Amino acid sequence: MFDFYEEVGLSRSALLERISENVKASRFKHILGVEKAAIKLAEKYGVNPHKASLAALLHDYCKEEYDATFLALIDKYHLDEELKNWDNNIWHGKVGIWKMREDFGLQDDEILRAIEIHTVGSQEMSELAKVLYVADYIEEGRDFPGVVEARCVAWDDLNKAVAFETMRLVSYLAERRLTIYPETFEAYNAFISYLR
Ligand code: GDP
Ligand code: FE
Ligand code: FE
Ligand code: FE
Repeated sequence: MFDFYEEVGLSRSALLERISENVKASRFKHILGVEKAAIKLAEKYGVNPHKASLAALLHDYCKEEYDATFLALIDKYHLDEELKNWDNNIWHGKVGIWKMREDFGLQDDEILRAIEIHTVGSQEMSELAKVLYVADYIEEGRDFPGVVEARCVAWDDLNKAVAFETMRLVSYLAERRLTIYPETFEAYNAFISYLR
């Protein structure tokens, strides 16, 4: 494990304490599961495991933030007004990074971008962003139909894993008659050919 995260100027134990104060115990457990998966994926696919660790530890830091906090951040940082039509599911990544900048002084663009798109993906994803996106889906605590297959794909090919997860996400949302964030479709279109 890493003892210190210079990107946020905190020891691992201080960082974990800050995160655990902001999320419930079950989510903290999920976060540690994502970190474990992200480090393993990073080692397999040649991504910096230290960055993967920090991105994973912070990715859901804002999942329990009040809606009003996100709406205020959208105004404060002049983010796309269209974001206001969405909810916590989209905000905790897309808007959450602005709270992480404030709360941790985090400025690493690659880590911030990976966290920003960890829920919805994007047509252009760094290898770090792919690792976080996939780790969030396959971490050991996840239990849903298809997770075993998703884990198999993840250890086979990282682009295939992004495609597989996005395909399943789009069909999951469509079956539930939910609205789909435009970047999710863009990710689907950009990656789906890896599954053919
Ligand atoms: P978590 O934060 O670890 O629970 O996982 P994610 O950040 O990946 O996803 C959070 C939630 O957002 C999940 O319930 C997803 O199904 C949902 N979600 C992801 N993409 C979209 C989308 O395009 N539209 C909608 N409505 N929900 C989405
Ligand atoms: Fe999330
Ligand atoms: Fe996810
Ligand atoms: Fe998560």
